[in-house]
Amino acid sequence: MIRQNLKLTTAEKFYLPAILKGMLITLKHMIRPHDRVTIQYPEERRDHPTGYRGFHRLNKDEQGRIKCVACELCATACPAHCITIEPEPTPAEWTDRERMPKRFDIDMLVCIYCGMCEEACPVDAIELTKIHDWTSSSREEMIWNKEKLLEQYDNTTNEAYMAKMGLSLNPKDQTKKTAA
Ligand code: SF4
Ligand code: SF4
Repeated sequence: MIRQNLKLTTAEKFYLPAILKGMLITLKHMIRPHDRVTIQYPEERRDHPTGYRGFHRLNKDEQGRIKCVACELCATACPAHCITIEPEPTPAEWTDRERMPKRFDIDMLVCIYCGMCEEACPVDAIELTKIHDWTSSSREEMIWNKEKLLEQYDNTTNEAYMAKMGLSLNPKDQTKKTAA
């Protein structure tokens, strides 16, 4: 709406109502700190919503074995071509599957965190966690191998670890915990 022939008061001419309004908003946020949107990272962390795509983990089954069956569908679906898998036969006592990964690497510097690998996996073996902040001193360290990806499963299903990170457990992990 356009106000024609707007007559400003003396106070408005000196922007006093606008300044007062701005100061009242500042005062409101000073006395109600829970309304603030900034956080003291890294001491405080934002808990990302379910479905946030951070670093990967390789899931384990109820017996603590790697879930991956080395079908390589995730590597095929990966648009960044950053997954390398080398299959090997499973031990004779694993009667429920024939293959498992001997090598499973993800180049975290090449990954675009699209989640296509997770979508493609037929056995829910690869999953993206909520953790996004990770540092390393070399490019080589950012190629995560099978052991590192399995370690992420142990960490992110551990309530104490996730609480220390200021993050909540994946709802799926909570369900598993309750059911156990
Ligand atoms: S998140 Fe996307 S880019 Fe990253 S490994 Fe999975 S499919 Fe590849
Ligand atoms: S993570 Fe899933 S899709 Fe990828 S090789 Fe293993 S079982 Fe296949």
